[in-house]
Amino acid sequence: MLSLLFSAWVAGQGQALQMSYPAEPSLTGVAVRWSGNSVPFTLRGDRWLATVGIDLDSRPGDHAVDVTFAYEDGRSRLVREPVLVRAEEYPTTELQVEERYVELSPEDQARADREAAETSAIYDTFTPELYWSDAFDVPVRGAKDGRNFGHRRVFNGQPRAPHSGADLRATTGTPIYAANRGRIVLAKELFFSGNAVYIDHGHGLYTTYLHLSKIDVAVGQMVERGEQLGLAGATGRVTGAHLHWGVRLVDARVDPFSLIRVGAQ
Ligand SMILES: [Zn+2]
Repeated sequence: MLSLLFSAWVAGQGQALQMSYPAEPSLTGVAVRWSGNSVPFTLRGDRWLATVGIDLDSRPGDHAVDVTFAYEDGRSRLVREPVLVRAEEYPTTELQVEERYVELSPEDQARADREAAETSAIYDTFTPELYWSDAFDVPVRGAKDGRNFGHRRVFNGQPRAPHSGADLRATTGTPIYAANRGRIVLAKELFFSGNAVYIDHGHGLYTTYLHLSKIDVAVGQMVERGEQLGLAGATGRVTGAHLHWGVRLVDARVDPFSLIRVGAQ
């Protein structure tokens, strides 16, 4: 039997982690157990690759994940792999927004709770099909970076959930494009997110595009990388026009730009 490559995987809190193993002639499949799902690796050239995420609030330090290697003679081998989570320092931001987004009316609270249940049910769905094969791209043409990922936030003096996406500069009406190929699983107005589009890219990877002024896609539709999803705007809980771009990676909230950096495949 060929020896397996042992390496300590390292990623910061809120970062995508690409795991890879060399192809071996008799190896027919690799999968990692991650957040309750079996995430299959994909063979690209001479490597098996899978992209998983270290959640923003993952405990820093040593973790372990189980990786299964399947061979053509029917044998399989389980290897416990070390993953080191590096602590990241994310600053706190104080923001002023319309009071109705901080002190919610009973109706708005009920609506926000309903929508939170709906979006978490989306993230709990693990699509076994992989819809993409090219690297991820930024949804605003020419954007080099985003702001505020991971920031602890205080709205009108009250602490709220950390910022789980990146904010990209975009004036109202700026075209917003799909970061990669996938299926539209949500396309409507939400209380906090305003006009929102969610794409399921398969294998537990979702991208979200929030605060749009206009939505050009519908639920169930397949979109290609670079296809227009809508126009940037300032809907929902915002301080001004921008694109909020989010990524969920097998249940982890990660910086979308870390997907670009690892060249997720
Ligand atoms: Zn944002």
